[in-house]
Amino acid sequence: MTINFIDLKAQQQAIYPQIMERIQTVLAHGQYIMGPEIKELEARLASYVGVKHAISCSSGTDALLMPLMAYGVGPGDAIFTTPFTFIATAEVIQLLGATPVFVDIDPKTFNIDPAALAVAIVNLDRNPKTAHLRPKGIIPVDLFGQPADYDRINEIARQRGLFVLEDAAQSFGGAYKGQRAGSLAEVAATSFFPAKPLGCYGDGGAIFTDSDELAAVLRSIRIHGQGTHKYDNVRLGINGRLDTIQAAILLAKLEVFDQEVSARQEVALRYSQALKEVVQVPYVAPECTSVWAQYSVLSDNRAALQEKLKQAGIPTAVYYPLPLHLQGAFAHLGYQKGDFSISEHASRQILSLPMHPYLIAADQERIVNNLS
Ligand SMILES: *Cc1c(COP(=O)(O)O)cnc(C)c1O
Repeated sequence: MTINFIDLKAQQQAIYPQIMERIQTVLAHGQYIMGPEIKELEARLASYVGVKHAISCSSGTDALLMPLMAYGVGPGDAIFTTPFTFIATAEVIQLLGATPVFVDIDPKTFNIDPAALAVAIVNLDRNPKTAHLRPKGIIPVDLFGQPADYDRINEIARQRGLFVLEDAAQSFGGAYKGQRAGSLAEVAATSFFPAKPLGCYGDGGAIFTDSDELAAVLRSIRIHGQGTHKYDNVRLGINGRLDTIQAAILLAKLEVFDQEVSARQEVALRYSQALKEVVQVPYVAPECTSVWAQYSVLSDNRAALQEKLKQAGIPTAVYYPLPLHLQGAFAHLGYQKGDFSISEHASRQILSLPMHPYLIAADQERIVNNLS
């Protein structure tokens, strides 16, 4: 019996007729680009997250890129984020010619440390390498499905006149102080990559905001900077649309999403109870609900644990083995090993275990027994 890291097949079996019906509807009407399912999905997403506007798009990466374009981010701008994240978070900053300024994480939540953020903003001027940069925005990441500390981050941003773009690629379905991830900053980006908590069958993403002005600009950027009609382009944009067929699949998956989120909570709870003496189990802040995009433990014995699980046919993953400040794409920024010691430490010890809503207790027991 194989154990999957993420079991998309089990999910598909559970909702196969609904998915097929939705896909067949798209094949029948034939509106593959911006078909009626796009509007339907956007309304559902906006009401789920609790924001005025949901703008579906081509990927989580483009969902991060487009708000930066809307804010006019470019050369000379400093955008603060963490080095303990997926490349896309910082990639989009640099793609626009702006400079990622890394800030270390909280050792328990792995999310941006608000105290370190405040220091990094002040220090920008004091460091000759960054003194020429203008602080412009912050991209906190809701790592592994747990939201960052938005009250503190938004307050720092307000004092400094910075925008906050929530990277909710892993946290769709999570919450902070009773508010859903995606609604925790003035604008948020999520991903529907197949392995994310809500995934489609290809690439996809969405942007969330309460601002009418920002939403209008984002909708224009999503279609090549379109103005009032198709061949009137008022700015530069991208081809950033979500396919109708992916919207249809997401609509079918949304039907069972709440059940899946509860199932994830149960899986996480069972892991934490069984493993708390064996490894450092994940910490969820009392004001947060994680959607458990990953169940990640810390161990100073990671390689051995991973090997043992592998021998037993149990897949694991390391997110992320190398913090971004030590990667070639950001080498020109001049960061050194030791600059973000908490991120570096987490990179050496982190280990993600199989986590999905269809993970049965018996399989989980096998995983736990192989760890103990
Ligand atoms: C997955 C992910 C992204 C990018 O999403 P894609 O849909 O793969 O482009 C961005 N940020 C984080 C934190 C992610 O996990």
